Amino acid sequence: MIPFNKPFLTGNEIKYIQEAVESGKISGNGIFTKRCHHFFESEYGFNKTLLTTSCTDALEMIAILLRLEQGDEIIVPSYTFVSTANAFILHGAKVVFADSNPLNPNIDVDKIEHLISNKTKAIVVVHYAGIACDMEKLRSLAEKYKLVLIEDSAQAMESYYKSERLGSIGDFAAFSFHETKNIISGEGGLLVLNNPVYEERSEIIWEKGTNRTAFQRGEVNKYHWKDIGSSYLPSEVIAAFLYSQLENIPKIQSRRIDIWNKYNQELIDLQNQEKIKLPHIPAYGYNNGHMFYFTCRSLDERNDLLNHLKSNGILAVFHYLSLHKSDFFKSRYKGNHLKWSDFYSDSLIRLPLFYELTEEEQAKVVDCVFSYFKSR
Ligand SMILES: *Cc1c(COP(=O)(O)O)cnc(C)c1O
Repeated sequence: MIPFNKPFLTGNEIKYIQEAVESGKISGNGIFTKRCHHFFESEYGFNKTLLTTSCTDALEMIAILLRLEQGDEIIVPSYTFVSTANAFILHGAKVVFADSNPLNPNIDVDKIEHLISNKTKAIVVVHYAGIACDMEKLRSLAEKYKLVLIEDSAQAMESYYKSERLGSIGDFAAFSFHETKNIISGEGGLLVLNNPVYEERSEIIWEKGTNRTAFQRGEVNKYHWKDIGSSYLPSEVIAAFLYSQLENIPKIQSRRIDIWNKYNQELIDLQNQEKIKLPHIPAYGYNNGHMFYFTCRSLDERNDLLNHLKSNGILAVFHYLSLHKSDFFKSRYKGNHLKWSDFYSDSLIRLPLFYELTEEEQAKVVDCVFSYFKSR
């Protein structure tokens, strides 16, 4: 069986974990956490970062930082992972779902304005498959209506909007190091605070509502309960694993992008025959080798193709189901029909893409997609 994903170990993960263990401190915010923060703040130029135990946790921290009140609204795409919406609902907000655009699953920026009310606090965007949303338009909407702009950058490591790194544009960004992403630590995430206003409070929320981080820096002589918070920081074991991955970003990215490009070139004939649609990357965006997806002509054809691949030993998968139609949300949903979100729920398929996928395996996947469409 060719799996959909296989976590890649770059080589030093176990060595660094051993170092962390032997250092005598394996709780959070130790040497490896600081190395990771330093990487993101110096190499990537992010203003301030905090490692978290997941992207979900980073999104929850953002929700707390927004000081949400009953009735506050957050605009979120319907075609995304549960956490993009759940984090804000958990902290008292009302989620207003937006549609995707016809060219790719990213939020349709031209259809956001009518969703904005005097209760709207923030817009959360997802750079689906690491392909940038239209950030210039989003930035001007956020400025016009004084909204907080949040990038769910879970899939967007090493990607850009024009020359700006994704995750550096919104007031906040959240990354994921879940084993299905490009850079991994099993479970793991990163909160990026581009707007300095939130810096001080973020450290307190991160450390169970205390000012322990300032205490550890020697800025105060005792630490105490300052605000609400929770346990969002990962242990040094996770940070050590992640640091090994961060040292190998060019190697991981180059292999993943090669696999992506090969799929894209090999499948172009099927797009020319109008049987599938390959990913659309706008002129301002880039491919970061996170995910190779395409869309089929119908739900039946997509599911049929998944079965065809499976019976040939290949595990391909569909992706999100519109959140506004979920069991949890459908009875609360009062908005419009979200045509494109439903379209991607029905027609999108993702092919195996991981560092160790061999050329033979990839050729087999491509052949199998072709053999399915041969008679159609
Ligand atoms: C993976 C993912 C998440 C969740 O990340 P975790 O680290 O598992 O919490 C959130 N949003 C998007 C768009 C994702 O792809």
